[in-house]
Amino acid sequence: MSQHMSLGNDDVFDEFLSQRGYDVPSEASDWQRDRQKKQCPDCGGLHEIAATECTVCGWMPESEAG
Ligand SMILES: [Zn+2]
Repeated sequence: MSQHMSLGNDDVFDEFLSQRGYDVPSEASDWQRDRQKKQCPDCGGLHEIAATECTVCGWMPESEAG
């Protein structure tokens, strides 16, 4: 008799999340780095490293918003 003990903690957690309809916010608070450019996490627009805000959609990092 070999009883496999299932520790399905992850599954339970997954189920919990889907039951609650929980959606992880994709809102980023900083630029996405793309080689010599940085990319707006909101609209995906590429900008120079020196850019402080997105000229496409107006997004800026939270740290510089205040
Ligand atoms: Zn943008």
